[in-house]
Amino acid sequence: MVKVGVFGASGRVGKLLLEDLKEKDNMEVSTVFVRRDLDFAIDPSVMVTSDMKTFLNGCDIVIDFSLPEACEKLLEEAMNTPKPLVIGTTGLNTHQLNLLKTASEKMPILYATNMSLGVALLNKLVYQASAALEGFDIEIVEMHHRHKKDAPSGTALTLSESAAAGRGLNLDDVRVSGRDGNIGERTKDEIAVMALRGGDIVGRHTVGFYNDGEFLELNHTATSRNTFSKGAIRAAAWLVDKEVGLYSIADCLEL
Ligand code: NAD
Repeated sequence: MVKVGVFGASGRVGKLLLEDLKEKDNMEVSTVFVRRDLDFAIDPSVMVTSDMKTFLNGCDIVIDFSLPEACEKLLEEAMNTPKPLVIGTTGLNTHQLNLLKTASEKMPILYATNMSLGVALLNKLVYQASAALEGFDIEIVEMHHRHKKDAPSGTALTLSESAAAGRGLNLDDVRVSGRDGNIGERTKDEIAVMALRGGDIVGRHTVGFYNDGEFLELNHTATSRNTFSKGAIRAAAWLVDKEVGLYSIADCLEL
């Protein structure tokens, strides 16, 4: 039985993880981390702790859907108590991403800004389309629920990285995240990533390739957050016995 520690258990995705893990025969929730008191119902057999070391020692693998600052603390503590980590938290800054890379020299880490099969495939398609559709303007639009904190979404940023890579461009040189005022015409290589927020939208991403006379739009819509919790559980089952290193969802899905 694989013992799973859930980090961010009281969150939108974390709560679904607790439910979805109940359906697994070979995995169970062993520990959850709470900042203060437990403010949600959980099976009494699960260890609830606000001590990071105790949390890590109580599980074989961690699934994290929290916030960047929390994820940073998890990574720092895991450097002392290494465990396989499935990281789903988005909005990590450069320091936190570097920490994640350093930590992956001590433990296997799967980091995915989107755990869904559809988006993993979409990244491949975007890379191919970007390379093939020379001269087409690339524009990315993402829509999420009103509570989402980071923008653009981690998924949209990963998609823009795939688009830039398809053209051999450095994303930092070409990414545009907003247009306002008399800013002049669109430049040839720019890749725009625009964020819309509202209602309860789970996640919608459109990558458009626009040219004179035609355009192609690749669209993915998540209709249920269980797509992410189930994807993370699949990733955990795959990662638990892997060597140290940094893995992607594409590695797990063999795409
Ligand atoms: P949420 O706000 O509902 O939940 C956040 C969780 O993190 C809560 O349990 C909260 O208690 C916990 N948390 C916050 N600060 C903490 C701290 N300092 N220490 C410990 N725990 C802390 O958010 P959500 O909608 O569940 O999303 C969580 C993260 O996952 C976000 O970054 C979101 O963008 C990302 N996400 C990723 C995917 C994916 O497929 N990779 C899908 C959906 C959401």
